[in-house]
Amino acid sequence: MIYIGNHLSSSAGFAAMGSHADELHATTFAFFTRNPRGGRAKAIDPSDVEKLIAHNQEHGFGPLVAHASYTMNLCSGKESVRTFAESCLADDLRRMEYVPGNYYNFHPGSHVGQGAEAGIRMIAEGLDRAVDEAVSGVLPEQSNPRDVITPLPQPLQDGTLHTTILLETMAGKGSEVGRTFEELKAIIDTSRHGDSLGVCLDTCHVWDGGYDIANHLDDVLSEFDRVIGLDRLKAIHFNESMNDCGAHKDRHARLKEGHIGLDAMKRIATHPALQDKPFILETPNEDPGYLEEIDLIRSWTE
Ligand code: FE
Ligand code: FE
Ligand code: ZN
Repeated sequence: MIYIGNHLSSSAGFAAMGSHADELHATTFAFFTRNPRGGRAKAIDPSDVEKLIAHNQEHGFGPLVAHASYTMNLCSGKESVRTFAESCLADDLRRMEYVPGNYYNFHPGSHVGQGAEAGIRMIAEGLDRAVDEAVSGVLPEQSNPRDVITPLPQPLQDGTLHTTILLETMAGKGSEVGRTFEELKAIIDTSRHGDSLGVCLDTCHVWDGGYDIANHLDDVLSEFDRVIGLDRLKAIHFNESMNDCGAHKDRHARLKEGHIGLDAMKRIATHPALQDKPFILETPNEDPGYLEEIDLIRSWTE
């Protein structure tokens, strides 16, 4: 059994995402913690969140997979961009404490010519500073009066967050860090909080990154296990690709329209090593397309 869902709009709040997920026959979902292209976030309404938590328990939902803004780059060449990324990350982690026990996934970053090694170090250090800030409960000064800075719902009892942070496997477009399992492992090993980090495997990204999950799925998963450890693999972004293996493009396709192939997608969704995990569709669909894809995956797995 796997949990299946897609990326939902958070514009109508948390409880609304739960009912939207029901309409699509989903048992998990993804959402942006703040504006995906900018940094703006809305104030959290705790009663709205409580409704979602109760709903998800009642309907047997799996862990949710929140997604950070795309613009967040912890290894930018510009210090202002890195500092902004760290403050967004810290605030996202405080926001995630309102929905404890879920996943928060982010793109490690793009090193923009500084080299993967420098990128890996900056990502790990920025991540550590953001986690430390979130855990401390001390809020930063408000530089822009329109900024929403979210306080923790309550002080952390044991000094640890109730969220597992996930690094997403990347396609290797431009100077993205995280195309190889080795790069993700290096971030985990460099971070002081590495013990608590997990990985979200995006099927389109690893395929575009050069891992042949269509013809050698077992080998790719063994490689993941050897380099990172399968115990770190917490969630799947279940996407088809518009391009060939190794294309480094990152263009998602619908399940029946990609280069990985439907048989291979079915082998992934039914693979014993990937059971009990949330599978999130980030395919180019509207609601009817998501409903169809979710029902299709469920027909394979149940
Ligand atoms: Fe992503
Ligand atoms: Fe993804
Ligand atoms: Zn992508």
